[in-house]
Amino acid sequence: MTSGSLPNDVAGLLATFGVSAADHSGGQRVVRSPLTGETIAQVREVAPSDATTAIGRAHDAFLAWRQVPAPRRGEFVRLLGEELRANKEALGRLVTIEAGKILSEGLGEVQEMIDICDFAVGLSRQLYGLTMGSERADHRLMEQWHPVGVVGVISAFNFPVAVWSWNAALAFVCGDSVVWKPSEKTPLAALAVQALTERVIARFPEAPEGLSVLLLGGREVGEALVDDTRVPVVSATGSTAMGRIVGQRLAARFGRAILELGGNNASIVAPSADLDLALRAIAFGAMGTAGQRCTTLRRLIVHESVYDRLVSRLKRVYAAVSIGNPLDGDALVGPLIDEAAFTAMDEALSQARAAGGTVHGGERQTAGVPAGGVYVRPALVEMPAQVGPVVHETFAPILYVLKYSTLDEAIALQNGVPQGLSSSIFSTDMRETDRFTSARGSDCGIANVNMGSSGAEIGGAFGGEKETGGGRESGSDAWKAYMRRQTNAINYGHAMPLAQGVRFDIADEDNGDDRGSADA
Ligand code: NAD
Repeated sequence: MTSGSLPNDVAGLLATFGVSAADHSGGQRVVRSPLTGETIAQVREVAPSDATTAIGRAHDAFLAWRQVPAPRRGEFVRLLGEELRANKEALGRLVTIEAGKILSEGLGEVQEMIDICDFAVGLSRQLYGLTMGSERADHRLMEQWHPVGVVGVISAFNFPVAVWSWNAALAFVCGDSVVWKPSEKTPLAALAVQALTERVIARFPEAPEGLSVLLLGGREVGEALVDDTRVPVVSATGSTAMGRIVGQRLAARFGRAILELGGNNASIVAPSADLDLALRAIAFGAMGTAGQRCTTLRRLIVHESVYDRLVSRLKRVYAAVSIGNPLDGDALVGPLIDEAAFTAMDEALSQARAAGGTVHGGERQTAGVPAGGVYVRPALVEMPAQVGPVVHETFAPILYVLKYSTLDEAIALQNGVPQGLSSSIFSTDMRETDRFTSARGSDCGIANVNMGSSGAEIGGAFGGEKETGGGRESGSDAWKAYMRRQTNAINYGHAMPLAQGVRFDIADEDNGDDRGSADA
């Protein structure tokens, strides 16, 4: 790639989605590619008052969409999946240019969108409620799931499009409309996805205008979404600092929050671990996406008997990993999102040194990488204890390594941080692996065995505990958060028994003349 070609490349890609030049030039928000630091677009953002109007459109759309049968709503999502399939290459490339992840991961992100669409299509013929045995004669007790309303989606830069789809594909089949506020760092991939969605809306007779609304803007626009009582559910993905504000604002108006926040994920490497397998999983987990995944492996807890063997191999892998332009097939580690991310990384490494850590790597790279981007060698940090920066999430490729002697100690270290997203154990000892996934094992939303902490499939519910926010999205029964549950008790008899045997016998002279037409 020659310097200066990126803006043209981006304009060409956006044109394939039908995004007009007016949407990505001349606006106030400068968008830079982390690959080279070049300005690739200037998008127009909305004001918080525009957000209020747009939410009104989405609310009107919801009132119509909730009446469309769920399997037809599934058909809409199937067509969206088809658009994504047809545009996977272009969208994956745009994700790479805007977010900096290697092309294979950019394409993987779009594949994840396709997968969740497929999942949602099947879901559209399910959306099951239960029936329960009633304690009263001639009564039926059951529950139904109804569309809930406008779903607000606030997303982070590092998964600029997949996070929207985990929420939107489910919300659409559940009968909801969606208002999306993407990261201000990645508006272009959002514009492309919005264009594809509008294409499907245009050719789907029952899909109302306003079914899918995109709001480009910063934090104030996100706050307008969070504060609007016409938005019963807000799914917010990003830092714990953001979630702390959003969660409290939503709670103040009794809105429902799906919070998907920061992680500080660990893997335990036990004495019986297959070290060849573990090494590959650790390398991807810790260095993949340049350490900028919520599920990135940040802490490695290694048994003392295998510590030296594993860490010496890891040091060699860290020293040799290819860093460079993520559009080139050879690079495994692309750039950090911006200069601020490097500053945060550098500060965390200084704190680690001050706390007795030994740092391998972590230097800024200038040779063999595009000028203008922020490229770093991932850092491996041997720590004497879980202190200082180890208990925080630094959104950069730093892997802290700790030693343990008993499994109890390892699990206590794994759980001994404020975050609770993802975790894993490498062991071939069943007692250890089952203990790790048991109630007294990992306290995280995700606990893997003989795998790394990152790279979740869409089939399972995704999210974590503690400061990760407690939200769940994507697969399993996460769809329930996008609907409202209604419990129905139905009396098909003539008597009027009260639950729990309560008696409330009123005096009534009539004796059955008004029993309704069924008895006539
Ligand atoms: P960020 O918190 O800076 O921004 C995320 C989004 O929140 C952006 O769209 C931003 O505009 C918006 N926002 C910020 N303050 C807001 C406010 N007060 N009200 C409403 N909206 C607000 O996060 P980031 O730097 O884009 O992403 C990195 C972070 O996201 C990391 O902490 C990472 O772990 C986390 N993340 C979590 C998950 C998950 O599923 N748990 C997934 C991806 C990223």
